[in-house]
Amino acid sequence: MKVVLQNLTKIFPSRDKKAGKEVVAVNDFTFEIPDGKLIGLLGPSGCGKSTTLYMISGLQKPTSGKIFFGDDDVTELSTENRGIGLVFQNYALYPHMTVKQNIMFPLQNLKGADRMAKEQMLERAEEAARLVQIDELMERKPSELSGGQQQRVAIARALVKMPRVLLLDEPLSNLDARLRLQTREEIRRIQRETGITTVFVTHDQEEAMSISDLIVVMKLGVVQQIGKPQEVYDNPTNLFVAKFLGTPPINVLEGTVRGGKLMLGEDAVLDVAGVADQDVYVGIRPEGFELAENGVLACKLNNVEVMGRDVSVVCTNAASSNPVIRAIINADNKVDLSVAEVRFNLKPHKVFLFNKETEERIRYEVK
Ligand code: ADP
Ligand code: MG
Repeated sequence: MKVVLQNLTKIFPSRDKKAGKEVVAVNDFTFEIPDGKLIGLLGPSGCGKSTTLYMISGLQKPTSGKIFFGDDDVTELSTENRGIGLVFQNYALYPHMTVKQNIMFPLQNLKGADRMAKEQMLERAEEAARLVQIDELMERKPSELSGGQQQRVAIARALVKMPRVLLLDEPLSNLDARLRLQTREEIRRIQRETGITTVFVTHDQEEAMSISDLIVVMKLGVVQQIGKPQEVYDNPTNLFVAKFLGTPPINVLEGTVRGGKLMLGEDAVLDVAGVADQDVYVGIRPEGFELAENGVLACKLNNVEVMGRDVSVVCTNAASSNPVIRAIINADNKVDLSVAEVRFNLKPHKVFLFNKETEERIRYEVK
């Protein structure tokens, strides 16, 4: 089921009637979510992710704009009639019911032609439980389950009605690091197996990058960029997106373009033919540095952190906006800690220029 968001906007009135301004939580969001894909809705807290999800679910009504499931305009349809499955951060299970009863609950409320016989409900519940691998735990109460197991029950409950669209709002935030990793792989597997169009909300860029077919990066209610995770990482449209994706984060420096050369301080570090002379922000991915004896960029060496496969060279440069520059290089490169200065060459496709005022990307041909 494809889901179409058409000029979707949500404005909340001000909470403080006297002083406050209204909040544009989601601003003119237009996108066609392809059938059967998993979309990661990504951005910092307060950027409008949940509001977008609630509008798709029908829990909130858009101020303007439309939502289609396939060709059906569902904008005015109630949540119950949209055929969606919803999973929240807190599992919201009924504590007095067993796992089985929790999963069956949505089926018991079906009305009219949708009503099901008891055996049929049981069968469906067992199927959903198998899918999320909790079929051994059907007789337990939620209090007898781990957080990860509780979240699986919540997912099974969302799947049991065979929703047209699955909506997940930060479903892994309450889990510890190891379970988070495991459960996100599970969600990916379940999504692939069922082929249900899924929207997954998270503020965690690594989580979104790792499971999404497409990510949507939002800031202050406005969509910044939509694309495959790797494409967005390799080709950020502005400084915000470049900084939001990647661990460790991108290094940001202040540079100048003079006569087709990018200057960091006194060092001419890159050919940027065609870019007009101007001051720029320079984003360099940590993996964009190559140690070289006669490298173009000189930095003062602070520290070297060995992390198995990789080595993190922590250094400083007067042009850097961040306190330190972090370069990640292969562990086969031996760095002599006693030296005061390290020199790097830059990988051109890992260096991005941004306009100083608009922070939009300045494009040029990488040679
Ligand atoms: P996210 O899920 O990305 O953290 P939200 O969608 O929850 O962000 O919120 C987006 C913006 O809308 C925030 O500024 C938030 O304070 C505001 N907001 C959300 N819900 C309401 C509400 N019911 N009333 C007023 N403002 C709200
Ligand atoms: Mg939220």
